[in-house]
Amino acid sequence: MNMPVVPMEVLKQHLIDPEICIRCNTCEETCPIDAITHDENNYVVKADVCNGCMACISPCPTGAIDNWRTVLKAEAYGIDEQFTWDELPASKPLEEAAALSEQAAFAAEGDADPHALVSGALVPPWSAAKPYVNLYTHKSPLTATVVGNYRLTDESAPRSTPAADIHHIVLDFGATPFPVLEGQSIGILPPGTTADGKPHHARQYSIASPRNGERPGYNNLALTVKRVTQDHAGNAADGVCSNYLCDLKKGDTVTVIGPFGATFLMPNHPNSHLLMICTGTGSAPMRAMTEYRRRRRMKGATGKLMLFFGARTKEELPYFGPLTNLPKDFIDTNLAFSRTPGQAKRYVQDAMRERSADVAQLLKDDQTYIYVCGLRGMEEGVLQVLREIAEDHGLGWPALWERLKREGRLHLETY
Ligand code: FAD
Repeated sequence: MNMPVVPMEVLKQHLIDPEICIRCNTCEETCPIDAITHDENNYVVKADVCNGCMACISPCPTGAIDNWRTVLKAEAYGIDEQFTWDELPASKPLEEAAALSEQAAFAAEGDADPHALVSGALVPPWSAAKPYVNLYTHKSPLTATVVGNYRLTDESAPRSTPAADIHHIVLDFGATPFPVLEGQSIGILPPGTTADGKPHHARQYSIASPRNGERPGYNNLALTVKRVTQDHAGNAADGVCSNYLCDLKKGDTVTVIGPFGATFLMPNHPNSHLLMICTGTGSAPMRAMTEYRRRRRMKGATGKLMLFFGARTKEELPYFGPLTNLPKDFIDTNLAFSRTPGQAKRYVQDAMRERSADVAQLLKDDQTYIYVCGLRGMEEGVLQVLREIAEDHGLGWPALWERLKREGRLHLETY
Protein backbone atom coordinates (compact mmCIF):
# COMPACT_ATOMS: atom_id res chain seq x y z
CA MET A 1 0.00 0.00 0.00
CA ASN A 2 1.32 3.48 -0.86
CA MET A 3 2.01 5.81 2.06
CA PRO A 4 -0.16 8.99 2.06
CA VAL A 5 1.73 12.00 0.65
CA VAL A 6 2.23 14.65 3.30
CA PRO A 7 2.49 18.03 1.54
CA MET A 8 5.66 19.96 2.55
CA GLU A 9 4.80 23.61 3.01
CA VAL A 10 7.62 25.79 1.78
CA LEU A 11 8.33 29.40 2.66
CA LYS A 12 10.49 32.01 1.02
CA GLN A 13 11.60 33.49 4.33
CA HIS A 14 12.41 37.18 4.59
CA LEU A 15 15.59 37.90 6.59
CA ILE A 16 17.75 40.92 7.40
CA ASP A 17 21.53 40.69 6.94
CA PRO A 18 23.06 41.63 10.33
CA GLU A 19 26.44 42.33 8.72
CA ILE A 20 25.11 45.12 6.52
CA CYS A 21 22.20 46.43 8.63
CA ILE A 22 22.95 49.80 10.22
CA ARG A 23 20.06 49.54 12.71
CA CYS A 24 18.37 52.70 11.42
CA ASN A 25 14.86 51.43 12.27
CA THR A 26 13.51 52.38 8.82
CA CYS A 27 12.21 48.87 8.11
CA GLU A 28 10.45 48.54 11.45
CA GLU A 29 8.84 51.94 10.94
CA THR A 30 7.83 51.15 7.37
CA CYS A 31 6.36 47.69 7.91
CA PRO A 32 2.58 48.11 7.80
CA ILE A 33 1.86 44.92 9.73
CA ASP A 34 4.54 44.99 12.46
CA ALA A 35 6.42 41.98 11.13
CA ILE A 36 9.78 43.54 11.95
CA THR A 37 11.20 43.95 15.43
CA HIS A 38 14.60 44.34 17.08
CA ASP A 39 16.62 43.84 20.25
CA GLU A 40 19.92 45.51 21.16
CA ASN A 41 21.69 43.17 18.73
CA ASN A 42 19.65 42.72 15.54
CA TYR A 43 16.65 43.69 13.43
CA VAL A 44 14.64 40.59 12.54
CA VAL A 45 11.53 39.53 10.61
CA LYS A 46 8.74 37.42 12.08
CA ALA A 47 8.18 34.62 9.58
CA ASP A 48 4.61 34.03 10.72
CA VAL A 49 3.62 37.70 10.28
CA CYS A 50 5.54 38.89 7.16
CA ASN A 51 3.30 38.77 4.08
CA GLY A 52 6.06 39.74 1.64
CA CYS A 53 4.39 43.06 0.69
CA MET A 54 7.89 44.51 0.01
CA ALA A 55 7.02 47.91 1.51
CA CYS A 56 10.26 47.81 3.53
CA ILE A 57 12.60 46.97 0.65
CA SER A 58 13.32 50.23 -1.10
CA PRO A 59 13.41 52.51 1.98
CA CYS A 60 16.24 50.39 3.46
CA PRO A 61 19.35 52.50 2.88
CA THR A 62 21.79 49.57 2.76
CA GLY A 63 19.93 46.70 1.10
CA ALA A 64 20.36 44.58 4.26
CA ILE A 65 16.59 44.04 4.20
CA ASP A 66 16.53 42.29 0.83
CA ASN A 67 17.51 38.76 1.86
CA TRP A 68 15.52 35.61 1.39
CA ARG A 69 15.97 31.93 2.19
CA THR A 70 13.80 29.12 0.92
CA VAL A 71 12.96 26.93 3.90
CA LEU A 72 10.40 24.42 5.00
CA LYS A 73 7.71 26.41 6.76
CA ALA A 74 7.97 24.19 9.83
CA GLU A 75 11.70 24.96 9.98
CA ALA A 76 11.53 28.74 9.50
CA TYR A 77 14.10 30.67 11.53
CA GLY A 78 12.44 32.08 14.66
CA ILE A 79 13.18 35.58 15.88
CA ASP A 80 15.06 34.33 18.98
CA GLU A 81 17.49 32.56 16.69
CA GLN A 82 17.78 35.59 14.38
CA PHE A 83 18.59 37.84 17.36
CA THR A 84 21.78 35.80 17.96
CA TRP A 85 23.11 35.98 14.40
CA ASP A 86 26.29 37.83 13.46
CA GLU A 87 25.79 36.79 9.83
CA LEU A 88 23.05 35.17 7.77
CA PRO A 89 22.94 31.37 7.60
CA ALA A 90 24.27 29.90 4.36
CA SER A 91 21.72 29.49 1.56
CA LYS A 92 20.48 26.00 0.93
CA PRO A 93 22.24 24.29 -2.00
CA LEU A 94 20.79 25.58 -5.26
CA GLU A 95 19.20 22.32 -6.43
CA GLU A 96 17.45 21.88 -3.13
CA ALA A 97 16.29 25.49 -3.05
CA ALA A 98 15.07 25.26 -6.64
CA ALA A 99 13.12 22.12 -5.85
CA LEU A 100 11.71 23.73 -2.77
CA SER A 101 10.80 26.94 -4.53
CA GLU A 102 8.77 25.03 -7.12
CA GLN A 103 6.43 24.20 -4.32
CA ALA A 104 6.65 27.60 -2.69
CA ALA A 105 3.51 29.54 -2.09
CA PHE A 106 4.89 33.01 -1.55
CA ALA A 107 2.67 35.72 -0.20
CA ALA A 108 4.49 38.45 -2.16
CA GLU A 109 2.64 37.24 -5.20
CA GLY A 110 -0.46 38.74 -3.64
CA ASP A 111 -1.75 42.09 -4.81
CA ALA A 112 -0.59 44.33 -1.95
CA ASP A 113 0.48 47.74 -3.28
CA PRO A 114 3.46 48.87 -1.20
CA HIS A 115 2.92 52.53 -2.15
CA ALA A 116 -0.51 52.43 -0.59
CA LEU A 117 0.93 51.13 2.68
CA VAL A 118 3.68 53.61 3.44
CA SER A 119 3.70 57.35 4.17
CA GLY A 120 6.45 58.44 1.78
CA ALA A 121 7.76 57.59 -1.68
CA LEU A 122 9.52 54.29 -2.37
CA VAL A 123 11.10 55.66 -5.54
CA PRO A 124 13.41 58.61 -6.24
CA PRO A 125 12.43 61.61 -8.41
CA TRP A 126 12.52 60.68 -12.10
CA SER A 127 15.39 63.07 -12.80
CA ALA A 128 17.56 62.14 -9.79
CA ALA A 129 21.11 61.12 -10.59
CA LYS A 130 21.84 57.44 -10.06
CA PRO A 131 23.30 56.95 -6.60
CA TYR A 132 26.12 54.65 -5.59
CA VAL A 133 25.27 52.65 -2.45
CA ASN A 134 27.25 50.28 -0.22
CA LEU A 135 30.61 50.94 -1.86
CA TYR A 136 32.21 50.46 1.55
CA THR A 137 30.89 47.93 4.07
CA HIS A 138 31.63 46.71 7.59
CA LYS A 139 34.04 44.19 6.07
CA SER A 140 35.78 46.73 3.84
CA PRO A 141 35.31 50.20 5.35
CA LEU A 142 37.08 53.37 4.35
CA THR A 143 39.24 55.70 6.40
CA ALA A 144 38.50 59.41 6.18
CA THR A 145 40.44 62.30 7.70
CA VAL A 146 38.79 65.07 9.68
CA VAL A 147 39.63 68.37 8.02
CA GLY A 148 37.26 70.51 10.07
CA ASN A 149 35.05 70.30 13.16
CA TYR A 150 33.14 73.46 14.08
CA ARG A 151 30.43 74.01 16.64
CA LEU A 152 27.39 75.35 14.79
CA THR A 153 25.14 76.26 17.66
CA ASP A 154 25.67 79.20 19.95
CA GLU A 155 28.29 78.55 22.67
CA SER A 156 25.88 80.08 25.20
CA ALA A 157 23.55 77.11 24.83
CA PRO A 158 24.68 74.59 27.49
CA ARG A 159 26.18 71.38 26.14
CA SER A 160 23.81 69.27 28.25
CA THR A 161 20.65 70.75 26.72
CA PRO A 162 19.18 68.43 24.09
CA ALA A 163 20.00 69.65 20.59
CA ALA A 164 22.22 72.43 21.90
CA ASP A 165 25.64 71.21 20.79
CA ILE A 166 25.63 70.61 17.06
CA HIS A 167 28.80 70.27 15.01
CA HIS A 168 29.68 70.71 11.35
CA ILE A 169 32.28 68.05 10.62
CA VAL A 170 34.17 67.85 7.34
CA LEU A 171 35.67 64.50 6.26
CA ASP A 172 38.18 64.12 3.46
CA PHE A 173 38.64 60.92 1.45
CA GLY A 174 41.95 61.78 -0.23
CA ALA A 175 42.34 59.82 -3.44
CA THR A 176 39.74 57.15 -2.59
CA PRO A 177 36.48 57.49 -4.53
CA PHE A 178 33.44 58.22 -2.38
CA PRO A 179 30.76 59.52 -4.78
CA VAL A 180 27.65 60.86 -3.04
CA LEU A 181 24.42 62.68 -3.81
CA GLU A 182 22.42 65.16 -1.77
CA GLY A 183 19.98 63.25 0.49
CA GLN A 184 22.28 60.26 0.94
CA SER A 185 23.90 59.33 4.23
CA ILE A 186 27.03 57.57 5.45
CA GLY A 187 27.72 55.16 8.32
CA ILE A 188 30.35 55.84 10.97
CA LEU A 189 31.89 52.94 12.87
CA PRO A 190 32.80 54.31 16.31
CA PRO A 191 35.87 52.75 17.92
CA GLY A 192 35.56 50.45 20.94
CA THR A 193 33.09 47.80 21.94
CA THR A 194 29.78 47.44 23.69
CA ALA A 195 29.53 46.17 27.29
CA ASP A 196 29.38 42.59 25.98
CA GLY A 197 32.57 43.00 23.94
CA LYS A 198 31.02 43.34 20.46
CA PRO A 199 32.15 46.14 18.13
CA HIS A 200 29.75 49.11 18.16
CA HIS A 201 27.31 49.03 15.27
CA ALA A 202 27.48 51.79 12.67
CA ARG A 203 25.53 55.05 13.17
CA GLN A 204 24.02 56.78 10.18
CA TYR A 205 24.50 60.50 9.37
CA SER A 206 22.99 62.51 6.52
CA ILE A 207 25.41 64.24 4.20
CA ALA A 208 25.17 68.02 4.58
CA SER A 209 27.20 69.03 1.52
CA PRO A 210 26.53 68.82 -2.23
CA ARG A 211 27.79 66.10 -4.54
CA ASN A 212 30.83 68.09 -5.60
CA GLY A 213 32.11 68.46 -2.06
CA GLU A 214 31.85 70.76 0.91
CA ARG A 215 34.64 72.59 -0.84
CA PRO A 216 33.79 72.34 -4.54
CA GLY A 217 36.17 70.11 -6.42
CA TYR A 218 37.54 68.43 -3.29
CA ASN A 219 36.87 64.81 -2.33
CA ASN A 220 35.21 65.72 0.94
CA LEU A 221 31.80 65.94 2.59
CA ALA A 222 30.20 67.54 5.63
CA LEU A 223 28.05 66.11 8.41
CA THR A 224 25.78 67.88 10.90
CA VAL A 225 26.06 65.99 14.18
CA LYS A 226 24.11 66.60 17.36
CA ARG A 227 25.85 65.58 20.58
CA VAL A 228 23.46 63.18 22.31
CA THR A 229 23.55 63.73 26.07
CA GLN A 230 20.09 62.42 26.93
CA ASP A 231 18.06 59.46 25.77
CA HIS A 232 14.65 59.95 24.20
CA ALA A 233 13.05 59.89 27.65
CA GLY A 234 15.26 62.77 28.85
CA ASN A 235 17.54 60.68 31.11
CA ALA A 236 21.27 61.44 31.02
CA ALA A 237 22.99 59.24 28.40
CA ASP A 238 26.16 59.98 26.47
CA GLY A 239 25.63 58.79 22.91
CA VAL A 240 28.56 56.65 21.76
CA CYS A 241 29.03 57.90 18.22
CA SER A 242 27.78 61.47 18.40
CA ASN A 243 30.13 62.29 21.30
CA TYR A 244 33.01 60.57 19.51
CA LEU A 245 32.35 62.64 16.38
CA CYS A 246 31.79 65.97 18.14
CA ASP A 247 35.10 65.54 20.01
CA LEU A 248 37.20 64.74 16.91
CA LYS A 249 40.13 67.01 16.10
CA LYS A 250 41.47 68.10 12.75
CA GLY A 251 43.78 65.34 11.45
CA ASP A 252 41.98 62.50 13.29
CA THR A 253 40.78 59.59 11.19
CA VAL A 254 37.33 57.94 11.18
CA THR A 255 36.04 54.67 9.79
CA VAL A 256 33.26 55.16 7.25
CA ILE A 257 30.85 52.85 5.40
CA GLY A 258 28.31 53.64 2.69
CA PRO A 259 27.13 55.69 0.99
CA PHE A 260 23.48 54.80 1.68
CA GLY A 261 20.11 55.85 0.32
CA ALA A 262 18.53 55.47 -3.09
CA THR A 263 15.20 57.30 -2.81
CA PHE A 264 15.55 60.47 -0.66
CA LEU A 265 17.33 62.21 -3.54
CA MET A 266 16.83 65.58 -5.19
CA PRO A 267 15.45 66.05 -8.70
CA ASN A 268 18.01 67.11 -11.27
CA HIS A 269 15.71 69.01 -13.62
CA PRO A 270 16.31 72.72 -13.10
CA ASN A 271 12.66 73.82 -12.99
CA SER A 272 11.77 71.46 -10.10
CA HIS A 273 10.62 73.10 -6.86
CA LEU A 274 11.84 71.91 -3.45
CA LEU A 275 9.54 72.13 -0.44
CA MET A 276 11.80 71.28 2.53
CA ILE A 277 10.54 70.74 6.07
CA CYS A 278 13.01 69.93 8.84
CA THR A 279 13.93 70.13 12.49
CA GLY A 280 17.41 70.20 14.10
CA THR A 281 19.97 68.03 12.32
CA GLY A 282 17.27 67.15 9.77
CA SER A 283 18.59 70.31 8.13
CA ALA A 284 21.65 68.37 6.86
CA PRO A 285 20.13 67.04 3.61
CA MET A 286 18.30 70.35 3.09
CA ARG A 287 21.62 72.20 3.32
CA ALA A 288 23.11 69.80 0.76
CA MET A 289 20.23 70.32 -1.68
CA THR A 290 20.08 74.07 -1.14
CA GLU A 291 23.80 74.47 -1.67
CA TYR A 292 23.72 72.34 -4.83
CA ARG A 293 20.91 74.49 -6.18
CA ARG A 294 22.80 77.65 -5.22
CA ARG A 295 25.81 76.41 -7.18
CA ARG A 296 23.60 75.52 -10.14
CA ARG A 297 21.63 78.75 -10.01
CA MET A 298 24.25 80.49 -12.09
CA LYS A 299 23.67 77.78 -14.69
CA GLY A 300 19.97 78.51 -15.02
CA ALA A 301 18.11 76.49 -12.33
CA THR A 302 14.75 78.24 -11.98
CA GLY A 303 12.71 76.08 -9.57
CA LYS A 304 11.52 77.58 -6.29
CA LEU A 305 12.93 76.62 -2.88
CA MET A 306 10.74 76.88 0.20
CA LEU A 307 12.10 75.86 3.62
CA PHE A 308 10.35 75.33 6.95
CA PHE A 309 12.91 74.83 9.69
CA GLY A 310 12.16 74.24 13.36
CA ALA A 311 14.38 74.31 16.44
CA ARG A 312 13.91 74.97 20.13
CA THR A 313 15.60 78.39 20.00
CA LYS A 314 17.48 80.55 17.49
CA GLU A 315 20.71 79.66 19.32
CA GLU A 316 20.06 75.94 18.72
CA LEU A 317 19.33 76.26 15.02
CA PRO A 318 22.26 74.92 13.01
CA TYR A 319 23.38 77.13 10.11
CA PHE A 320 21.23 80.03 11.37
CA GLY A 321 23.62 82.74 10.17
CA PRO A 322 24.38 81.44 6.65
CA LEU A 323 20.74 80.49 6.15
CA THR A 324 19.36 83.90 6.98
CA ASN A 325 21.95 85.48 4.65
CA LEU A 326 20.70 83.61 1.57
CA PRO A 327 18.92 85.92 -0.90
CA LYS A 328 15.11 86.01 -0.47
CA ASP A 329 14.61 85.50 -4.20
CA PHE A 330 16.63 82.27 -3.99
CA ILE A 331 15.00 80.59 -0.98
CA ASP A 332 11.82 81.33 0.96
CA THR A 333 12.93 80.51 4.53
CA ASN A 334 10.44 80.13 7.40
CA LEU A 335 11.81 79.49 10.89
CA ALA A 336 9.85 78.22 13.88
CA PHE A 337 11.12 78.22 17.46
CA SER A 338 9.37 76.20 20.11
CA ARG A 339 11.19 77.41 23.25
CA THR A 340 11.94 81.11 22.83
CA PRO A 341 11.58 82.61 26.32
CA GLY A 342 8.52 84.85 26.57
CA GLN A 343 7.07 83.70 23.25
CA ALA A 344 4.37 81.19 22.38
CA LYS A 345 5.60 77.80 21.16
CA ARG A 346 5.79 77.70 17.39
CA TYR A 347 6.42 74.51 15.40
CA VAL A 348 7.09 73.95 11.70
CA GLN A 349 3.43 72.98 11.27
CA ASP A 350 2.38 76.41 12.59
CA ALA A 351 4.72 78.15 10.15
CA MET A 352 3.31 76.02 7.31
CA ARG A 353 -0.26 76.93 8.26
CA GLU A 354 0.68 80.63 8.18
CA ARG A 355 1.99 80.16 4.63
CA SER A 356 -0.85 77.91 3.60
CA ALA A 357 -1.65 79.73 0.31
CA ASP A 358 1.97 79.45 -0.90
CA VAL A 359 2.33 75.85 0.22
CA ALA A 360 -0.92 75.08 -1.67
CA GLN A 361 0.52 76.68 -4.83
CA LEU A 362 3.46 74.30 -4.58
CA LEU A 363 1.20 71.30 -3.89
CA LYS A 364 -0.73 72.11 -7.07
CA ASP A 365 2.43 72.13 -9.14
CA ASP A 366 3.60 68.82 -10.67
CA GLN A 367 7.19 70.04 -10.44
CA THR A 368 7.15 70.15 -6.62
CA TYR A 369 9.20 67.67 -4.58
CA ILE A 370 8.68 67.49 -0.82
CA TYR A 371 11.34 66.49 1.75
CA VAL A 372 10.74 66.00 5.47
CA CYS A 373 13.67 65.23 7.79
CA GLY A 374 14.31 65.43 11.51
CA LEU A 375 12.73 64.27 14.74
CA ARG A 376 10.79 61.05 14.50
CA GLY A 377 7.68 62.66 15.98
CA MET A 378 7.36 65.33 13.27
CA GLU A 379 6.21 63.08 10.43
CA GLU A 380 2.61 62.71 11.51
CA GLY A 381 2.16 66.42 12.25
CA VAL A 382 3.64 67.47 8.90
CA LEU A 383 1.50 65.01 6.94
CA GLN A 384 -1.54 66.27 8.86
CA VAL A 385 -0.86 69.91 7.98
CA LEU A 386 -0.19 69.03 4.33
CA ARG A 387 -3.58 67.30 4.32
CA GLU A 388 -5.27 70.36 5.89
CA ILE A 389 -3.68 72.75 3.39
CA ALA A 390 -4.54 70.52 0.44
CA GLU A 391 -8.17 70.11 1.50
CA ASP A 392 -8.60 73.84 2.30
CA HIS A 393 -7.52 74.59 -1.27
CA GLY A 394 -9.72 72.03 -2.96
CA LEU A 395 -6.97 69.48 -3.60
CA GLY A 396 -8.17 66.03 -2.58
CA TRP A 397 -5.42 64.85 -0.23
CA PRO A 398 -5.76 61.04 -0.49
CA ALA A 399 -5.34 61.05 -4.28
CA LEU A 400 -2.65 63.74 -4.22
CA TRP A 401 -0.75 61.88 -1.50
CA GLU A 402 -0.79 58.65 -3.50
CA ARG A 403 0.42 60.51 -6.60
CA LEU A 404 3.21 62.27 -4.71
CA LYS A 405 4.44 58.88 -3.46
CA ARG A 406 4.15 57.13 -6.80
CA GLU A 407 6.00 59.95 -8.58
CA GLY A 408 8.83 60.05 -6.01
CA ARG A 409 7.76 63.52 -4.87
CA LEU A 410 7.25 63.02 -1.12
CA HIS A 411 10.25 61.87 0.91
CA LEU A 412 10.33 61.32 4.65
CA GLU A 413 13.38 60.58 6.80
CA THR A 414 12.96 60.81 10.54
CA TYR A 415 15.03 59.33 13.36
P1 FAD B 1 23.58 55.91 21.17
O1 FAD B 1 24.78 55.50 21.97
O2 FAD B 1 23.19 55.07 20.03
O3 FAD B 1 22.36 56.16 22.08
C1 FAD B 1 22.44 56.74 23.37
C2 FAD B 1 21.07 56.98 23.91
O4 FAD B 1 20.50 58.11 23.25
C3 FAD B 1 20.11 55.83 23.66
O5 FAD B 1 19.29 55.72 24.79
C4 FAD B 1 19.31 56.26 22.46
O6 FAD B 1 18.00 55.75 22.50
C5 FAD B 1 19.28 57.76 22.59
N1 FAD B 1 19.32 58.43 21.27
C6 FAD B 1 19.76 57.90 20.11
N2 FAD B 1 19.65 58.80 19.12
C7 FAD B 1 19.16 59.91 19.64
C8 FAD B 1 18.82 61.17 19.11
N3 FAD B 1 19.00 61.47 17.80
N4 FAD B 1 18.30 62.09 19.96
C9 FAD B 1 18.13 61.80 21.28
N5 FAD B 1 18.44 60.60 21.82
C10 FAD B 1 18.94 59.67 21.04
N6 FAD B 1 22.13 62.25 13.80
C11 FAD B 1 22.73 63.48 13.67
O7 FAD B 1 23.22 64.05 14.65
N7 FAD B 1 22.85 64.06 12.41
C12 FAD B 1 22.36 63.49 11.28
O8 FAD B 1 22.46 64.06 10.17
C13 FAD B 1 21.71 62.21 11.42
N8 FAD B 1 21.20 61.59 10.34
C14 FAD B 1 20.55 60.41 10.48
C15 FAD B 1 19.98 59.84 9.37
C16 FAD B 1 19.30 58.65 9.48
C17 FAD B 1 18.63 58.05 8.27
C18 FAD B 1 19.21 58.02 10.75
C19 FAD B 1 18.48 56.72 10.91
C20 FAD B 1 19.80 58.57 11.86
C21 FAD B 1 20.47 59.80 11.76
N9 FAD B 1 21.04 60.40 12.86
C22 FAD B 1 21.63 61.63 12.73
C23 FAD B 1 21.04 59.76 14.22
C24 FAD B 1 22.38 59.01 14.42
O9 FAD B 1 22.45 57.91 13.54
C25 FAD B 1 22.54 58.46 15.83
O10 FAD B 1 21.42 57.70 16.16
C26 FAD B 1 22.73 59.54 16.87
O11 FAD B 1 23.90 60.31 16.60
C27 FAD B 1 22.89 58.91 18.26
O12 FAD B 1 23.94 58.01 18.22
P2 FAD B 1 24.88 57.80 19.48
O13 FAD B 1 25.80 56.67 19.20
O14 FAD B 1 25.49 59.08 19.89
O15 FAD B 1 23.84 57.41 20.62
